[in-house]
Amino acid sequence: MIQRIASGFIAGILALPAFALDVSEVQLIDLSHSYNSDTLYWPTSPSKFEKQELAFGETADGYFYSAYSISTPEHGGTHLDAPLHFAADGWPTDRIPLQNLIGNAVVIDISKQAAADRNYRLSVSDVRAFEDQHGRISPGDIVLLRTDWDQF
Ligand SMILES: [Zn+2]
Repeated sequence: MIQRIASGFIAGILALPAFALDVSEVQLIDLSHSYNSDTLYWPTSPSKFEKQELAFGETADGYFYSAYSISTPEHGGTHLDAPLHFAADGWPTDRIPLQNLIGNAVVIDISKQAAADRNYRLSVSDVRAFEDQHGRISPGDIVLLRTDWDQF
């Protein structure tokens, strides 16, 4: 089982100079999950998750070494779809400006509705109810949808 593959989002943050990122006033939430053969992949994918152990243990030179090879469909679990996914002139993920991936986030919680109806879809009234309680969502805000379906 592979634990917590770092995303481009995390890699982007690590590229910042240490003094530029003050996290003392923000809440950091780890949204990563294990990524493995149990991960949900887009059902029409012709490939599947594969993991191969390349090395694990003491080497002939006397140090421990562990390495794996993985192959996986790109549309699995919670992931970022590049604009290129459905637009020929869209950005691939490595061209998305990092500033587009960092910002204020809001979480719209529809976990109760999703628990009662597995086909529940976010509605305009859900967004309006959120804004009535928390204020208007600003242009550029990153909207996260909480369904609690990660348990499955
Ligand atoms: Zn996708």
